[in-house]
Amino acid sequence: MSDTASEPVSSAVRELVDANHILFDQGVVDGFGHVSVRHPSRPDRFLLSRSMAPGLVTERDVLVFDLDGAPVEPGGPAVYLERFIHSEIYRKRPDAAAVVHSHSPAVVPFSAVTGTKLRPIFHMCGFLGAGTPVFEIRDFAGSESDLLISDGRLGAALAASLDQGPAVLMRGHGSTVVGSSLHQAVFRAVYTEVGARLQTEAMRLGPVTYLTEGESAATTKTNNTQIDRAWNLWLKAARTRSMAT
Ligand SMILES: [Zn+2]
Repeated sequence: MSDTASEPVSSAVRELVDANHILFDQGVVDGFGHVSVRHPSRPDRFLLSRSMAPGLVTERDVLVFDLDGAPVEPGGPAVYLERFIHSEIYRKRPDAAAVVHSHSPAVVPFSAVTGTKLRPIFHMCGFLGAGTPVFEIRDFAGSESDLLISDGRLGAALAASLDQGPAVLMRGHGSTVVGSSLHQAVFRAVYTEVGARLQTEAMRLGPVTYLTEGESAATTKTNNTQIDRAWNLWLKAARTRSMAT
């Protein structure tokens, strides 16, 4: 497509395909879930696959969207029902360069219980900070919705719940994380799932000692320098096991 012809955009498309495959290979997404990246030269646009399983995405499947969640080129293939998660977060958060939405299984219980927040119990999850907000869609869509973020109004409400944080849980549904780069967003999505699993295990054993606010900030700063170490490993593993070739 004309809008993805330049080298920076082509590079962003290739990385987005890699991110899709990594998130599938790491068990963050399955047939559902999606990852997007802001357009490298048009901050009012973003790149996202057409509606399909992330593990099968190729460069040909990546489309350009505007901040209303509409494909820039009309008449194309079917698009994700929940693309408004991405459009409204990019609209609200100029610092967000990438967004991952998933139903990763260890996180979902934390969206559905009251009184227990998803919090960092080990250093790799320091970015979760003092706790992760839970978006209650009933407050905006009533008690008979399909729980999906299927329009801009719900997307804006989710983005407001996320506020300036790195992650938001969605009650009975899943979670959404943002990053200042695609690599950071993928890193956070993987470690949100790992952290949820570990917190659940720890809570079975007894009272949990969580990272302090200072530890959260310090570990986040250190981890931000190490993200590509994980990305390179995950990419190699995803390519080795890829079903998309
Ligand atoms: Zn979803």
